[in-house]
Amino acid sequence: MRTRIILLGSTGSIGNSALEVARRYPDRFEIVGLAACSNVEGLKRQCAEFRPRSAAIVDETLAPDVTARALEVEKVYRGSEGAQALVVEEEADIVLAAMVGAAGLSPVLAAIRSGKRVALANKEPLVSAGALIMSEARRMGVPVLPVDSEHSAIFQCIQGQQSEEIYQIHLTASGGPFYQRDRASMSGISPDEAANHPTWDMGRKISVDSATLMNKGLEIIEAMWLFDVALDKIGVVIHPQSIIHSMVEFTDGGILAHLGPTDMKFPIQYALTWPERVRAPMARLDLTTMPPLTFAKPDFSEFPCLRLAMDAAHRGGGAPAILNAANETAVEAFCEGRLPFLQISEVVEAALDQVESPHEVTFDTIMEADAAGRRFARTFIDQAGVRV
Ligand code: MG
Repeated sequence: MRTRIILLGSTGSIGNSALEVARRYPDRFEIVGLAACSNVEGLKRQCAEFRPRSAAIVDETLAPDVTARALEVEKVYRGSEGAQALVVEEEADIVLAAMVGAAGLSPVLAAIRSGKRVALANKEPLVSAGALIMSEARRMGVPVLPVDSEHSAIFQCIQGQQSEEIYQIHLTASGGPFYQRDRASMSGISPDEAANHPTWDMGRKISVDSATLMNKGLEIIEAMWLFDVALDKIGVVIHPQSIIHSMVEFTDGGILAHLGPTDMKFPIQYALTWPERVRAPMARLDLTTMPPLTFAKPDFSEFPCLRLAMDAAHRGGGAPAILNAANETAVEAFCEGRLPFLQISEVVEAALDQVESPHEVTFDTIMEADAAGRRFARTFIDQAGVRV
């Protein structure tokens, strides 16, 4: 029996890498559903090649052109509820969630509630509603498998270990394109500069998050939930070569590290084949020619987003959802040239301080906190915009 895969966010960076993995193993994987946000042409090409039974296009404005006939699928789903409906109705073994942002929350919950394994590349739902996602996953007995490279590394290091045997998780960070630059020199950074990551080739939102180090902050929260560890057991270490993808230090003093080339196809393949490992025709690390591995402490004063994310994690409740919503709104404004780079953290900080956070984490409280965070951030940016 082939593993039946639903891929959400199929035309993005992770989606394309996932389809490359699927293309390699036609005897092993079957793509049964594809969902894209707005890239209709890309979705058409993917449907023609992988022949899924169903497809979804999330952008409502494009819906009229997207028919089952045009995509050559049996069923087509449309609009913001489309991905969720596809996940519920299509039979599958695993849902690979590679959408961008907290919009992935509903489809991820729908996958878990319909008893499907989840491979999670989309970190924002876990940041916003980690308590809810993980409790639903436990209730349904559904594994949530990390695709984020650091979390895949950690997951691989803890196979066969108990969570109480973890002493410290060392999340590695490349430092992003502006590592070792002082804050004053970052004021005129353009979206293109911020998206030019030194070691990873990624989508725009995550690239900007990597430049502000918000990505690492979101990853701390993601790790708390995925591995059921307290905030104080997760540290960040700057490792500019991105060869070690993260490390786990155990209570007996031993540290296990995961090393590999910087290629997202590795963690994607591991999540899809777990608990097995499958031989891959991928580039391999040459230990004798790789650069020396170096490690440094992150500088919280140059990259306030890291501190803000830890602060939100510490506050708990709806605070991480507000942090995430304000950050998504600020990054979008930055990419559209409406907000200077250094003000991304200011928007997030103001939202965390001024938007009221619910104590209880339910789907409704998180959706409300998310909406309130976005509203606040939009208003704040409109006022800050004059300073651009
Ligand atoms: Mg990562």
